[in-house]
Amino acid sequence: MERSDVVIIGAGGVGCAVARELSRYKLNITVLEKECDVAGGISGRNSAVVHAGFNNVPGSLMAKLCVEGNQNFEALCSELDVPYKKTGKLLVAFDENDMESLRSVLAQGEANGCKGLRLVGADEMKDLAPGIGGIGGMYSPETAVFDPFLYCIALAENALANGVQFRFNSEVISIGRESSGSFVVKTAGGAYGCRLLINCAGLGSGRISEMAGGPAYRLYPCRGEYFILDKVADDLLPMPVYPAPRKGIGGLGVHLTPTTAGNIIIGPSAEYISQIDDLSCTKPVMDGLYAEAKALLPAIERKMIIGSYAGIRPKLAPPEEGGYRDFVIKEEANCPGLVNLIGIESPGLTASMPAARMVRRIIGNRMPLEEKEDFVAARKAPVRFRDLTEEEQAQLICEDPEYGELICRCQKVTKREIRNAIENPFGARSISAIKYRAWATTGRCNGGYCLTRIVDMLIHEYGMKPEEITYRSAGSEMFDGKVK
Ligand SMILES: Cc1cc2nc3c(=O)[nH]c(=O)nc-3n(C[C@H](O)[C@H](O)[C@H](O)COP(=O)(O)OP(=O)(O)OC[C@H]3O[C@@H](n4cnc5c(N)ncnc54)[C@H](O)[C@@H]3O)c2cc1C
Repeated sequence: MERSDVVIIGAGGVGCAVARELSRYKLNITVLEKECDVAGGISGRNSAVVHAGFNNVPGSLMAKLCVEGNQNFEALCSELDVPYKKTGKLLVAFDENDMESLRSVLAQGEANGCKGLRLVGADEMKDLAPGIGGIGGMYSPETAVFDPFLYCIALAENALANGVQFRFNSEVISIGRESSGSFVVKTAGGAYGCRLLINCAGLGSGRISEMAGGPAYRLYPCRGEYFILDKVADDLLPMPVYPAPRKGIGGLGVHLTPTTAGNIIIGPSAEYISQIDDLSCTKPVMDGLYAEAKALLPAIERKMIIGSYAGIRPKLAPPEEGGYRDFVIKEEANCPGLVNLIGIESPGLTASMPAARMVRRIIGNRMPLEEKEDFVAARKAPVRFRDLTEEEQAQLICEDPEYGELICRCQKVTKREIRNAIENPFGARSISAIKYRAWATTGRCNGGYCLTRIVDMLIHEYGMKPEEITYRSAGSEMFDGKVK
């Protein structure tokens, strides 16, 4: 049995943030993740917004951690070389009731410590985000967008560089205790002993708590579906635009959000569902999304849509209650050594690093934590060719001709970048692992041009058999033989 001081279950944004934060200290840490890579759960399926914190109830953990997260997110992204853009955000009112709602959101935001919030008239709104309808709005200058995949990847790579061990394809199936009080965490591949167990299992966190002997939290899955627009629509929207909040819905309303990669996403819906893993995108919801988005930004057209996806909120609030219940982040009194992070729905990514610091303080109250002298805080991402100037690109091509060969034409991703993605420090070899690291296959052709070229590299340059190539984790095999 492998033994660690700390086992973290889940390599989403929260688990990776906890791993990165704890890697500052002289601790032996293992992360167990059921998928084949980081961000395989909710952290890869959301709106990618660094929220300012005005949506959350004053005094709640959600509000406190979100505001703290927002204030430090830019510095964190700069330290870890993660795409981040402070865009600001607009909440739009269509009638007097909406304006009333915005006035109370503004007051709530100010009570939470959000900076710079102000009401704007229709004229200023048009200056901020041309093409947006409505009679007025609220502007939040501190809201930003970021790349959630690269955020998780960067946190995990930095934790790895600082000594954390990651075990992928390792679903936790049972948890017991030794007579010493240590946990024994079992996966199909082996058992892991630890003194402290940190439950960051997202939608699976209720089950993990019960397995470990902690309380039985019931989580209600609430799905949010999205459209993705082609980059041709990029110029239409400089910042996220949301409708004024309406009471009782399980999300923030259908919004339009520009991504750091230059696409616009539309969504999410909010629909309680019965199955925790049902990621379907459904026609009635998608039709509704389009109609709501068109009301906010009349210039969008159906032909701009290039894809769809869905994410699932792990809600503590049942359907009959709706809205939000606060995050649970604590060591369970009836289960010493188990630190639970439950109900981490939006703004969970914005709040992930403050949540990790909270976990560190909980652990620090149990045992002395000694800082490492050799902790390395910075992490450098591989080159993103499309972000360079023409001169820089020409220089790189001279140094390495693989920068001169485009594999993904829609997103301008070069062969060298695909190679860097394939050779990632975790050895993650799925198509999605390459997609999220290099951003290939995400353009208008949906991989029509680049996918076969990536597969060719995996087979001919990395010795994989076609049957071994998966889209994500085991069970998503893409080929079962040759056609010619
Ligand atoms: C529609 C939607 C929009 C959102 N928009 C935003 C936003 O704009 N900004 C923001 O800040 N937040 C947003 N959020 C919230 C944010 O995405 C989540 O709070 C955050 O990603 C949660 O991270 P996590 O690490 O707790 O969960 P996850 O990312 O789901 O990670 C949990 C991990 O645990 C693993 N796991 C589960 N069970 C087991 C097991 N038995 N053994 C091993 N591993 C296991 C899973 O595979 C998963 O990888 C949004 C969420 C949704 C659903």
